[in-house]
Amino acid sequence: MSELKACPFCGFTIVIGVFITPYRFRCMCSKCGSIITKDTKENAIEAWNTRTYPPEVLELVRVCKNFRESYCDSLNLAARRNIDEALKPFEREEGE
Ligand SMILES: [Zn+2]
Repeated sequence: MSELKACPFCGFTIVIGVFITPYRFRCMCSKCGSIITKDTKENAIEAWNTRTYPPEVLELVRVCKNFRESYCDSLNLAARRNIDEALKPFEREEGE
């Protein structure tokens, strides 16, 4: 899949494209698990390759994910829920 650009979240370059059905195509980062799903292969690749965020946002997402991982067990439920909620747009599938 050389036509797929590096992951917009982690910069990992081994991004896999997968057909789910003939009408659904998924691009997925094999390192951080970011996913995008679209109706056609072309749309999925286009959406993946143009999925960009300002560097400040990417840094914030990275810090939040690290924080959540490191302090997962010591966070209270409300704090954990807030972080999950804030990170949702960066983890959820798009294009459904
Ligand atoms: Zn990634």
